Amino acid sequence: MTNLSPILKQATGVVAERGEGVWLYDESGGKILDFTAGIGVTSTGHCHPKVVAAAQEQVGKLIHGQYTTIMHKPLQQLTERLGEVLPEHLGSVFFANSGSEAAEAALRLARQATGRPNIVVFQGGFHGRTMGAASLTTSGTKVRAGFSPLMGGVVVAPYPNAAYYGWSEEETTDFALRELDTILATQSAPNDTAAFLIEPVLGEGGYVPNNTRFLQGLQERADKHGIVLIIDEVQTGWGRTGEFWGKDHFGVEGDIMMTAKGLASGFPLSGIAARPELMDKAWPGSQGGTYGANAVACAASLATLEVIQEEGLVANSAARGAQLKAGLEAAAAKHPQITDVRGLGLMLANEFRDAEGNYDGATAAAVQQEAARRGLVLLTCGPWGQCVRFIPALVVNESEVDQALGIWNETLDAVL
Ligand code: PLP
Repeated sequence: MTNLSPILKQATGVVAERGEGVWLYDESGGKILDFTAGIGVTSTGHCHPKVVAAAQEQVGKLIHGQYTTIMHKPLQQLTERLGEVLPEHLGSVFFANSGSEAAEAALRLARQATGRPNIVVFQGGFHGRTMGAASLTTSGTKVRAGFSPLMGGVVVAPYPNAAYYGWSEEETTDFALRELDTILATQSAPNDTAAFLIEPVLGEGGYVPNNTRFLQGLQERADKHGIVLIIDEVQTGWGRTGEFWGKDHFGVEGDIMMTAKGLASGFPLSGIAARPELMDKAWPGSQGGTYGANAVACAASLATLEVIQEEGLVANSAARGAQLKAGLEAAAAKHPQITDVRGLGLMLANEFRDAEGNYDGATAAAVQQEAARRGLVLLTCGPWGQCVRFIPALVVNESEVDQALGIWNETLDAVL
């Protein structure tokens, strides 16, 4: 008899037997509202019939065909269909299994293509837990502490996080762009800088949307100096923010885009899309892996794309996101402990502070626990665990958002 490692202690007491849409069911048939979607993964809802059918059909045909050995049909079709949603200039794709591997692939490619060592990342960013990806991550010490020496060549610049600095968006953006220029002049000369790596909305770092002026300033500097702009769309892609890609809110395109989570409704699949002239610089054997672009995962991803398009899930994310944000703001107005409600589309967070104005992870955790007891599963985020976030499947309907808000209000009244 073995025990589950204590590292895998679940944040809520929920034991799920099956899932359907935004609902989880426990063994006794109890219904729980899932506003976590497996950390923003099951965007088409748990076990969408079309995704299930596509995966089941593929399991009977071909489960695995290693992609540097043979081509298989789901990979061929997915590569073609991605052209419908990817920016035209990102015409070359590579697949892996997780967001962390997408970060590794983007990092390798940027260094290969430029021959330069440094990656500039932005404070609070999360890019994964493998050693390369962890080296790029600053969303909290738990991913890095005790693992030194991490990869060298990582330079951290300020993220335009107005809520953190307590300044206006304009002041924060001026500051962040000025600091970036200082970094290029003092720490990481353009000739040594392979890439800027940034999330359109800071995810694990506390659901902080980026802004147009900052991202466009980043793109300008990248273009001017031949630095590769990597946009990490692992959490923000596939409709999560109310646009297909998070970057679409800000009018930037990037040179490499990372994707994972929502692209295969829960099957492990990730990838990068890059300018072909960059991808051409990757030498054989430098990018790859046994399991990337698994045939069942690719079939599920094709079905996911169809569901998103047929059911208008990007528009639903924007509409239900607006409904949810309004409800969260109304709840926050009654509780001074919630000092900010922020995010885009169905990627929303409530930030908690104590009476002295310090970030309050303990209260956020207590609220998460109480919500789960009342039938609503939520996650925390932020370096101090100070945010409680709402990331339901994009199929969530108006009444389900209302039900979640009902439980949220009762929870806040009980805990605060
Ligand atoms: N990048 C971002 C923006 C993420 O949010 C995550 C995971 O939350 C990752 C990368 C890493 O993905 P994974 O956990 O699949 O390795």
